[in-house]
Amino acid sequence: MRRSYIAGNWKMNMTASEGVVLAKELVAAAAGCTAKVLIAPPFTTIPAVREVVKGTNIRIGAQNMSDSESGAHTGEISVLMLKDLGLDAVILGHSERRMIYGEKDAFINRKVKLALAHDLEVILCVGETLEEREAGTVEEVVKTQLVGGLEGLSKEDMKQVVIAYEPVWAIGTGKTATPEDADNVHAYIRAEIEKLFDKEAADDVIIQYGGSVKPGNVKELMAKENIDGALVGGASLKSELFIPIVTYDL
Ligand code: PEP
Repeated sequence: MRRSYIAGNWKMNMTASEGVVLAKELVAAAAGCTAKVLIAPPFTTIPAVREVVKGTNIRIGAQNMSDSESGAHTGEISVLMLKDLGLDAVILGHSERRMIYGEKDAFINRKVKLALAHDLEVILCVGETLEEREAGTVEEVVKTQLVGGLEGLSKEDMKQVVIAYEPVWAIGTGKTATPEDADNVHAYIRAEIEKLFDKEAADDVIIQYGGSVKPGNVKELMAKENIDGALVGGASLKSELFIPIVTYDL
């Protein structure tokens, strides 16, 4: 039985003081929720937010990390620094990293392996652009990202990996994949995980959906067999939107 998992990606929003206010509201509202909950604040906001969520059921993740452990990488953040902050997880391969900063699958794969080697949970994002969807290449694109991102991982490693399917055209646009469309892609991802590893890994892997998830659509998305959670961008920045998402089943 897969436990549902809701994650909020704050992206480049929220100063430390703003983040503390939001985190306090979330802690109070999410205390009894059944879903696993994670927030990914920007790096500079993490220490203040971590203090607020300490000892609660809210976990903290980073939005990215370097593919190197240390050294001459101006402006980068190392996995050692994330561990030092006591983080639980890291989001890798987000479409904004892929599209704006040109991150490729082999580069993302190095980060995935490094995060796992340091016992960080990985949320690996995959998803097609509108052009790729219109060209009918959704499965091909998602497969390439999965195979590339998970290259060299063992079945054991997969216990620490979550997949987030995020159609790029649905991110921050207000457009959502229909629950049926999303579920079909999730089923495809699960089948690919089975091919790459085995049925147990496929049955156990948590697959989040991301792309304009809101209080009004979370229930119908989460009702689908292969949708195990949500990776939420815009709506995770407002407690009145994120709390109903996190507590969707209460
Ligand atoms: C995201 O960027 O991961 C995301 C899903 O954003 P939004 O919820 O704003 O579409």
